[in-house]
Amino acid sequence: MCLACHDPLARGEDHLCTGCRAQLPYADYHRLPPDQNPLARRFWGKLPVQHTLSYLRFQKHGRVQHLLHQLKYQGQQDVGRVLGRWYGQELTEAGLQAAFDLIVPVPLHARKLAQRGYNQADSFAEGLAQGLQLPWHAAALHRVMNTKSQTRKNRMERWENVETVFEVAEPNLVHGQRVLVVDDVLTTGATLEACCAVLLAAGAREVSIATIATADR
Ligand SMILES: [Zn+2]
Repeated sequence: MCLACHDPLARGEDHLCTGCRAQLPYADYHRLPPDQNPLARRFWGKLPVQHTLSYLRFQKHGRVQHLLHQLKYQGQQDVGRVLGRWYGQELTEAGLQAAFDLIVPVPLHARKLAQRGYNQADSFAEGLAQGLQLPWHAAALHRVMNTKSQTRKNRMERWENVETVFEVAEPNLVHGQRVLVVDDVLTTGATLEACCAVLLAAGAREVSIATIATADR
């Protein structure tokens, strides 16, 4: 069955039917010069993000939203694996295999992980690692509760803090490395930015990001 439209698959089709695969809204940001990459612009003036990559453009009520829903809420981790593998192969063909040393998924909070049973970013990291023939490490980053005093922060800072507190669980693993941080979907970019910031602080040589899909703002 096709993961996007649920039609039966024909022989030789892999997880998605030929029609869906042809009609997915591919973002192709890796083919654009950096100054024309809309995703890169979101990080300008914030952090030096080397490569800003996304496989698909998020469209409400479309195939991409359906695929992400399958991945996140229906236990269909194959969605992440197969899209990651295809995208990794495409990036390899574009010569980007040599641009990274390690793939790291954005972690879920432990409580959420226990509820869902899996992190939807892990399967994408696993697929990408396969397609790019690079190592990935699920536990390099850790999402933590904010324990710092909130009293001196304004309301906006407090709100941001709750969502985006990460720490590097394995500094030895990322030190001196070119790390590709991956997540299922990018909306504001705040989560990926927070992950990149702690990786750079822990001595990562470069940080890049890749998501399955990006939502327009
Ligand atoms: Zn289909």
